[in-house]
Amino acid sequence: MSRSALPRRWRRLPAATAAGVALLLIAGPATAGTAAPPDREADAPVVLERSADEQADVVEVTVDGSAQLDALVATGVDLDHHVTPTEAGIVVHAVVTPTEVAALKRMGYRVGAVLHDAADSAQRISERDATIAAHQAENRAYTATLERSAATSDVKIIRADYYTSGTNQVLSVEAKWAQGQTSTSALTVARDSGPGTEIGTGGTQNISRFVDAGVYLYHRGAAAVAARPERIQITSPSGDVAVAEVKEWLPIPADSPEGPGYQKDFVTSYLTPTELYDRIKRLADAYPQLAEVVKLPYQTNGYRRKAQVVLGGTNATRVAVDSLAWGHEGGNDITVELADPGAADRPLSVTVTGKAVRVSLATDAAGAVTSTAAQVAAALTAEAGALVTAYTYRGDAGAGVVAPVAPTPLSDNLKAPAGVSRDPHPVYAIRIGKYRDGSRTGVLAYAQEHAREWVPPLVTIETAERLLRNHATDENTKQLLRTLDIWIVPSINPDGGHYSFYDYASQRRNMTNHCAPGGATDALARNSWGVDNNRNYSEYSLFDGYSGASASCTGDTYAGPSELSEPENRNVDWLAQRPNMKFSMNLHSSGNYFMWSPGAYATPGRISAPRPTLAEESFFWGASSRILTAIKRHRNMAVTPARTGPISDVLYSAAGNSGDMLWYKYGIYAWNFEVGTSFQPTWEEAHQETMEFSNGLVELLRVARDYDKDKKRPTSTLSVTPSATEGAVSVRFDVSEPAAVFYTLDGSRPTFESTLYASAGLREGAETLTVPVGTKIHWFSVDAAGNIERNYRPDEDSKTFNRGWATLPTG
Ligand SMILES: [Zn+2]
Repeated sequence: MSRSALPRRWRRLPAATAAGVALLLIAGPATAGTAAPPDREADAPVVLERSADEQADVVEVTVDGSAQLDALVATGVDLDHHVTPTEAGIVVHAVVTPTEVAALKRMGYRVGAVLHDAADSAQRISERDATIAAHQAENRAYTATLERSAATSDVKIIRADYYTSGTNQVLSVEAKWAQGQTSTSALTVARDSGPGTEIGTGGTQNISRFVDAGVYLYHRGAAAVAARPERIQITSPSGDVAVAEVKEWLPIPADSPEGPGYQKDFVTSYLTPTELYDRIKRLADAYPQLAEVVKLPYQTNGYRRKAQVVLGGTNATRVAVDSLAWGHEGGNDITVELADPGAADRPLSVTVTGKAVRVSLATDAAGAVTSTAAQVAAALTAEAGALVTAYTYRGDAGAGVVAPVAPTPLSDNLKAPAGVSRDPHPVYAIRIGKYRDGSRTGVLAYAQEHAREWVPPLVTIETAERLLRNHATDENTKQLLRTLDIWIVPSINPDGGHYSFYDYASQRRNMTNHCAPGGATDALARNSWGVDNNRNYSEYSLFDGYSGASASCTGDTYAGPSELSEPENRNVDWLAQRPNMKFSMNLHSSGNYFMWSPGAYATPGRISAPRPTLAEESFFWGASSRILTAIKRHRNMAVTPARTGPISDVLYSAAGNSGDMLWYKYGIYAWNFEVGTSFQPTWEEAHQETMEFSNGLVELLRVARDYDKDKKRPTSTLSVTPSATEGAVSVRFDVSEPAAVFYTLDGSRPTFESTLYASAGLREGAETLTVPVGTKIHWFSVDAAGNIERNYRPDEDSKTFNRGWATLPTG
């Protein structure tokens, strides 16, 4: 839903689309400079067909202008977030299979270089496996070395750093223990109390295991100390001893928001949704006073599929067979055979023996098989209906005579290891803050609406680790946790995420198949299903007539059957409803964008969802520059101004996206990161992106803290300059900080109902008013945190508003 009064005539019902998906139906691109056709109801459904046998590549497509870009979006093609104007046209990145590339070329699009192919994704997986295996081998080798040398201790101190933080003195210790992979024991560190003192006189501290992606890395921990120790000693549970000197940590420049000894860099590999959730559970367990894991109210539909097979070659002879049971609950055990009886004049018959279904095909007087696909499908459903349902291929009449097929197993085609649950999956958030009772300013960070975006979840994990690991020793972090109620959801879409890691690397959507019977419901369409979770929200959606989402159940921007139809989306809506929620970050990749609302427009005419007010826009920009500065601090990578701003200004329309729901429905300052340069970059690059965007996410928390602490009232001034209009002058308001100005020109008291001073236009500054000379002007300003200038109370009998005259300064 939306408060927009726009007509709903663009609405296309899923049923109407499903009837058309048997064919490759494509609309040609609009020619450059022309708008999309005004009556989209009359268009044929636009579907790019994707074969389940193909992986997708990321390829460059160049379009002539925004009209052709809109036409390209309207084909339902899967675009990532790159949109780069060049002299040759607008270059976008499309995630497409070879079949889809061929279709785009036939439609006249200019298809360029392949930027990322399936081999790259496979390479990332094997890199990840190799990294984990190498770590585990290192652990084994380390243990073996120690076993060979009985004289060597089984514990080794990696580093011991002393530093000051504010008035605190801190000792941070990292040590590796040979039994760390298998034993969960903490290690105890004993300190001396300075030069020449005995070990133990400075007290003790515990350090605990750091495990990443199932691999023990080392023990670590920091604690406040009364004096700088010179030496420490660790005695392992087996009685072995290690001693080390304490070093002073190099001071970090004073202007960094990260205090001395600030700890970061906690992520060592890509993490699957199962691993992400395990990680936040361990983290909450380690800091029970500061964090808890919250199971969100809606479970996903599950990483599960019915077992399926498509028998036969041509469409007319194909028989599609689906199990009634989920694959992992018995469907995968079913086999189907189409047997030639080898005798004349035999009837079509079906026998079921356990999970083996045998179709004996009909023959004519000469012994030739005569059963058609339609007849076989009907017989299977009628006679083996307790196990399977069968149908002709995508609405085909099925008039072709089938060929015999040896017993063939049905399969759910899911390749994740058994450790990945096949059940409807809970979605977990970690809630961080000293006071988690709704009394503090709420901030929400959530990632992996899009399954294949593997870096954004790591940014959320890195951030959660930074907050909790630094709390005890970093005053700024402590303040964030005192002031804020932080909700972090590393994966909104775990089913799609698992599918992306194990089955189809380019999966964008969730796994739910909404295609109607007669449509693309068979096994060959299995990589084309799912709802785009970032198009299924309730404001300025496809259902409200907005652009940039697909009504096709196989479109990569499929908006779903209705607003908030998906559990993943209802979870975000549940989080956003929390009354204290004020800020949010929706983490995506890629493109190094930083964006906010409006995120959708209606075509023709690019009628945008309402723009933020001047004050809101200036608050967005002010906070954004802080966040982007924090990102840049990591390796001087700057998100450019061209990639900063409202989504529909800098990217394209995305009807029903989550940022818009949070902003328009709940009034949350909602941003979107587009992290990094690709969905699944090399680990080295992914690691850098994780570090820099975690800087940005932590800075958002500082923005929220400052908003919470902002008790400073804005001030404003009136400036009057000559106007070209006879008898008039030009008037502007200037404010001391991002603040809204309400004004009257008739001498009445200004209130929140008065005229709101506006922006001059898209990506411009404040407007200039032209008013008759001598006009009496009354106004007040209010900042983003609600502080009102001069303590004016617009709704009471208060007189402290500003007064001025539209006259040129004299002298
Ligand atoms: Zn995305």
